[in-house]
Amino acid sequence: MTLSFTPVIGLEIHVQLGTKSKIFCSCSTDYIGAVPNTNVCPVCLGLPGALPVLNASVVEMAVRTALALRCAIRETTRFHRKNYFYPDLPKAYQISQYDLPVAEHGLLDIGDASGRKKTIRITRLHLEEDAGKLVHSASDGRLAGAMESFVDYNRGGVPLAEVVSEPDLSSPEEARLYVARLRQLVRYLGVSDGDMEKGSLRVDANISVKVSDGRWGNRAEIKNLNSLRALERALEYEFRRQSDLLASGGTVVQETRHWNDGEGITIGMRGKEEAHDYRYFPDPDLPPLVVSAEMTSRCAAALPELPWEKEERLSNAYTLSADDIAVLCEHRDIADYFDAVVRNGASPVRAANWVRTEVLRTLNETGRSVKDFPVAPESLAMLLSHIDGGSLSTTAARSVFAKMAERRTSVESALAACGVSLGGATGDLLATVIRKIVEENGDVVKTIRDGNDANGKKRKFLQGLVMKEVRGQADPSSVASELQRALE
Ligand code: ADP
Ligand code: MG
Ligand code: ZN
Repeated sequence: MTLSFTPVIGLEIHVQLGTKSKIFCSCSTDYIGAVPNTNVCPVCLGLPGALPVLNASVVEMAVRTALALRCAIRETTRFHRKNYFYPDLPKAYQISQYDLPVAEHGLLDIGDASGRKKTIRITRLHLEEDAGKLVHSASDGRLAGAMESFVDYNRGGVPLAEVVSEPDLSSPEEARLYVARLRQLVRYLGVSDGDMEKGSLRVDANISVKVSDGRWGNRAEIKNLNSLRALERALEYEFRRQSDLLASGGTVVQETRHWNDGEGITIGMRGKEEAHDYRYFPDPDLPPLVVSAEMTSRCAAALPELPWEKEERLSNAYTLSADDIAVLCEHRDIADYFDAVVRNGASPVRAANWVRTEVLRTLNETGRSVKDFPVAPESLAMLLSHIDGGSLSTTAARSVFAKMAERRTSVESALAACGVSLGGATGDLLATVIRKIVEENGDVVKTIRDGNDANGKKRKFLQGLVMKEVRGQADPSSVASELQRALE
C-alpha cells in the first residue's frame, strides 16, 4: 500500500506595530539606520529602578487588528515576564503576555485565485516588546572578534503584536496566502508597514506531517523566513524532509530549525523549548491592562473598509475579473485611486487595465506613493474617456499619461506638450496618409490583393506604417477600416 502525506502548518507572526515611541518608554522606534544605542533610556536598557509605562497607542493598534481578525477582546489582561538569558535582552526577561492575551479566538479567511475559500482560526493575539540586536560589524567599521559581538539596543522595546494561528493550514501555498492576507490587513489598518525584508513582519512556521496509516510526526518550527517566497520554499523543503523520514520508518525530532535561503534547506538549531523553561510570572511593575467595552466599540466603529469588504464592494459594483479585483485591492490607496477614476466617469474595465499597468508601473519606477502621484484620478478619467470616445488612440494616450506623470499638469497642457490633438488623424488627413503608404509599398499591396495574406500579417504591417506616420494619433479601428477600403 502506498502511503500519502499531509502537512499540518500553524504560524506565529510577529507584527511590528508602527508607533512613534516604544511600548514601555518614550524612546523612538525608528531604529533602521540609527546610530547604535542612541534610541535608549533606563527603561528599555533595563536599568534598576526604571519603571515601564504602557503606550496607549500600542493597545489601540492591537485592538483594531484583533477586531479585524474577528477575535474576542479580553477586558482584563496582564503582562508577564518571559525569562531567558541572551545578550540582546538587557533585563534578562522579555515583557510579554502569557495566559491572558489581549485577544483570542479569531478567524481569517484566505482564498486562492480559483476562488476557493478557507477560514483559518486565530488562536490569540498578544503584545510584547522586541529585543535588541547582536551585530558583528559596528557602524564605525570595527569588526567583532571571533568570540565577540556588539549589541545594539535601539530595537529593544519596540512594540510587537504576535498573531498565532491554529494548525489549520494544509499546504505551503495556503501558508503563503495566509501571511499575505495578514500583511495586507495590517497595512490597510495602518498599524504596520508589514515589510518582511525589514523585519516588520516576522514569521515562525510550525509544520508536522500526518501519514495515511495514522501516524503523525512531531513538529519543527522554522525561523528566519523573511519573504513570502522563503516561507513557501522552506515549508516545501520541510514537508519533503519530514515525509521522507516518516516514509522510511524514522521519527521527526521536535526542534527549532533555521532556513538557509542560499542553499534552500532547513538546519536543526536547538531542541524546542517548553513554556515552563521560561518561568513566566506576572510583571509586578505593570498593572493589569483593562480594555473597556467602550474602547473596543470605539475602535470597531473606526475601522476602515477591510480588504475583503473592499473586494466584495468592487466586485459587486463592476464586472471585473477576480484577478483584477485582487491586484487593485492589494493596497488600500490603489483601490481608492481606482475607485475615484471610475467615479469620475472612466469605464471600469479600462480604468482597471490602466491602473494595473501604467499607474502601478509608474509608481514602481518612481518609488512614489499614490498620495503624491501627479496624475489625479480626475485627469486619468478624462484621458480614458477620450480613448473611449474614439478621439485619442491608446498609444497617444500613453505618451500623454507619461507627460502628466512627470509633473502635475492638466490633460490639455499634456496633450499640447505631446503635440497631440484630440480627434487625431481622421477624414482627409487619414485618407492622404493611407494613400501615401499604399503607393510606397506596392509590392506588399500586391501580395495582399493577390490573396496571399491569409494570416493578416501584411495588412498589420501597413497599418503599423500608417500609425507611425500619424505618430499614433488616430483611432486604430478607423485606420483598419480605411485601409481595408483602400486595398479593395
Ligand atoms: P509553543 O507554545 O510550543 O510555541 P503553541 O501551542 O503555542 O506551542 O503553538 C505554536 C504554533 O504551533 C501555533 O501556530 C500552532 O498552530 C502550531 N502547532 C501546534 N501543533 C502543531 C502541529 N502538530 N503541527 C504543526 N503546527 C502546530
Ligand atoms: Mg509559541
Ligand atoms: Zn527607552
